[in-house]
Amino acid sequence: PYNGPSAADIIKKRLQFLSPSLFCFYKKPLNVVDGKMQYLFDEDGRRYLDAFAGIATVCCGHCHPEVVEAIINQTKRLQHSTVVYLNHAIADFAEALASKMPGDLKVVFFTNSGTEANELAMMMARLYTGSQDIISIRNSYHGNAAGSMGATAQSNWKFSVVQIGVHHALNPDQYRGAFGSDGEKYAKDVQEIIDFGTNGRVGGFISEAIQGVGGIMELAPGYLPVVYKSIREAGGVCIADEVQSGFGRTGSHFWGFEAHGVTPDIVTMAKGIGNGIPIAAVVTTPQIAEVLTRRSYFNTFGGNPVCTAGGLAVLRVLEKERLQENAFLVGSYLKDRLKALQEKHDIIGDVRGRGMMLGVELVTDRQLKTPAKSEILHVMDQMKEMGVLVGKGGFYGNVFRITPPLCFTKEDSDFLVDVMDVALSKL
Ligand code: PMP
Repeated sequence: PYNGPSAADIIKKRLQFLSPSLFCFYKKPLNVVDGKMQYLFDEDGRRYLDAFAGIATVCCGHCHPEVVEAIINQTKRLQHSTVVYLNHAIADFAEALASKMPGDLKVVFFTNSGTEANELAMMMARLYTGSQDIISIRNSYHGNAAGSMGATAQSNWKFSVVQIGVHHALNPDQYRGAFGSDGEKYAKDVQEIIDFGTNGRVGGFISEAIQGVGGIMELAPGYLPVVYKSIREAGGVCIADEVQSGFGRTGSHFWGFEAHGVTPDIVTMAKGIGNGIPIAAVVTTPQIAEVLTRRSYFNTFGGNPVCTAGGLAVLRVLEKERLQENAFLVGSYLKDRLKALQEKHDIIGDVRGRGMMLGVELVTDRQLKTPAKSEILHVMDQMKEMGVLVGKGGFYGNVFRITPPLCFTKEDSDFLVDVMDVALSKL
């Protein structure tokens, strides 16, 4: 049993001592005190099915015993910075990660967050090419430091600080976009940005394969191959942000970009990489990695022994428990059930995504696609009351984000959809 502070006590302290910009889901914020695989437990011991897994940070399941054990064992032995001495944990994890990458993507840099990983990736792209211009896609989220905030393209995440050198291309948005699912048509916009918005040379292009914060928007098929070609012809490098779509979450592939038939020059990853502990990485080619030898570069905690021991355990568990395959099988089943729910409820405008990265967009009018902003809050609250946690996102905040731990089962999927059905029926 939990004997700690109540939700009310925590809220009081938050108001006094923590950032006024913090936000919480739910009218009555949830105080989560325990986690076990796909479940979270609140202060009263009430169990919730977690279909958001902390924005996809947990892939193996909350407190997966093998990952926890690896972290504890390493913590008891040594925790340190990664700078100036040798330790096997960082090298072992780098080797294991590199083995999951295609082509020449063999050099790993570790950071502590997705933001830092994207900052480093864009800096390397600029140094390698000698060009400052980066192209990212509207509706993307890449982080919140000056460079990555520049690449992020949603007004609600952009503060008024200097963010230079980024152009934002049309979103190949299959639901609202002007060209439907014709990826090649959207790709022309990137070529036009290069032709009319730069000197003809670019540093690079960065995109998610499925926009997470942006509301589970899978890039239209055919888009990335054409864009990668345009970028490379303009001297740029292609960066894949796999912070949410990596580590088997999309089911069909280990990395989100693989479904688009492209091989990036730089890949960034975070969240699921450590099953909840702060670690992130940039993987690139030996040629691009070379640019960091021009000056001194280090990251005090990036790749520390405890986090890399945890990361290595995550890869082991993913393989042993065939979690990518589970993401594919259970995710496809869940998507089919959500599609069937769409037939029943007019308010569901779109069901999309892949594997265990699924989105359900609520609209008050299917023709006009009017975002159902207040309805979604109500449904989300009702679902929580019935014991199911889902996320929310999209530019209009009207998309359910379903990104459970990859150990989610068919029975969990049935429960989630049944609960959503009841909540929608009561609207
Ligand atoms: N890229 C993507 C695709 C993300 O979803 C996020 C976080 N939501 C980030 C980068 C930034 O990661 P972090 O919050 O760890 O800095």
